[in-house]
Amino acid sequence: MKGHSIADLFASGILLQEVQVKGWVRTFRSNRFLALNDGSTLKNIQCVVDFENTDENVLKKITTGASVSVIGTLVESQGKGQSVEIQASAIEILGESNPEEYPIQPKKHSMEFLRENAHLRIRTNTFSAVMRVRSTLAFAVHKYFQENGFNYVHTPIITGSDAEGAGEMFRVTTFETNKAPLNESGEVDYTQDFFGKETNLTVSGQLEGEAYAMALGKIYTFGPTFRAENSNTTRHLAEFWMIEPEVAFCDLDGNMDLAEDFIKYVLKYILENCEEDIAFLNDRFIKEEKTKPQAQRSELSLLEKLQFVVNNNFKRVSYTEAIDILRNSKPNKKKKFQYPINEWGADLQSEHERYLVEKHFKCPVILFDYPASIKAFYMRLNDDEKTVRAMDVLFPGIGEIVGGSQREERLDVLREKVKAMGIDEKELWWYLDLRKFGTAVHSGFGLGFERLVQFATGMGNIRDVIPFPRTPQNAEF
Ligand code: ATP
Ligand code: MN
Repeated sequence: MKGHSIADLFASGILLQEVQVKGWVRTFRSNRFLALNDGSTLKNIQCVVDFENTDENVLKKITTGASVSVIGTLVESQGKGQSVEIQASAIEILGESNPEEYPIQPKKHSMEFLRENAHLRIRTNTFSAVMRVRSTLAFAVHKYFQENGFNYVHTPIITGSDAEGAGEMFRVTTFETNKAPLNESGEVDYTQDFFGKETNLTVSGQLEGEAYAMALGKIYTFGPTFRAENSNTTRHLAEFWMIEPEVAFCDLDGNMDLAEDFIKYVLKYILENCEEDIAFLNDRFIKEEKTKPQAQRSELSLLEKLQFVVNNNFKRVSYTEAIDILRNSKPNKKKKFQYPINEWGADLQSEHERYLVEKHFKCPVILFDYPASIKAFYMRLNDDEKTVRAMDVLFPGIGEIVGGSQREERLDVLREKVKAMGIDEKELWWYLDLRKFGTAVHSGFGLGFERLVQFATGMGNIRDVIPFPRTPQNAEF
């Protein structure tokens, strides 16, 4: 006899055999019915305890949160809603709990409370379902790219290039606080620091990814990314995981096709492989929506939203068209937007993105050809010299899920842009080299993995889809 996972027991149909399971007690009723969960599935297995023949000391210790081993016979269940249960013959307490102190009681807890107990919240149905879906999604990400000829590239986490995201970066240094050596002009002398220069945690692997795409053709990164932006929103983390494909000989249209195909593939994959967890999260989503005012409720259930995205084309709309729609929209005319849209060139805020996706088009939208002035230096300038080949994929309930572009491949144009944006060309010498030696049209995008998990699970707050969230004023655990 070997140990079984609870998922195996439900799937196997090895009835009337002796089995052993190990897990954590969810509930124990009437000294008889033990609901056990081991994380392999949402479902608890019911273990029917023969209390007359079980040591009283053991019975006392079967409390919520304790870890136990149960040996017994797997039988068809008498109780409703369960297919199999275990007639327990031997129970061993592996790790006691303390029912008075154990924070995860069999009742509804607030999300805030569970965040404060992030080390134990994973023992709830909601969080175990979310984290299993997250794991499966991560697998699907690799599966998609590997099956489509992309190479997985590990771009550095400590970066010496600060061209992007200046001001939003976490400094990496071995200097002691207040003891950093100063140079002649009284500034911190980083030539004496560990790397001999200023270094930071990466905000994106794109620039290094481009170098690899210009040799391997098709690459992707999937790794941690850091942003020291002080935005306390439901969609921003200080540490998050980003997926960044980069493709040589690919223009913006190809880039949009890739983003759409990729997102559909991974969502379809979890619909097919996480049925039980998605069904649970769907019920949860429907209940949560009912607590909201009518006007803010989602018209679709979680399952319907996922199916909708998988089965429908994303709407592709230029920035210029979007501005026209927004300018003439009801909320703009009634001054309901916090940032009114008056003229072409305005940066879109999340209220505008959500209006386009949720109210106007009612489907995922890809906005493209943004004003050059509101986008990064490396995006390809269009012939109008006003717009760049940028694209953002906008999702209902989430806003921006993907940001990407065709990259500027012309050395002279890129140099001009770098200069105009006040970036020191020397900082980017190797990036400019890519345009000097065998330059090519190429494109890529960044997709925030947690925003994808949010959409896939229907969780309202990004803090609830990553195991131990890092946000301003919060790095517990
Ligand atoms: P936003 O406007 O929402 O802050 P951004 O324009 O800063 O996004 P990009 O720099 O284009 O985003 O990054 C690519 C993707 O990374 C975004 O589309 C989003 O999915 C994700 N992302 C960006 N910042 C964060 C963050 N702080 N936490 C989680 N995901 C993020
Ligand atoms: Mn941002």
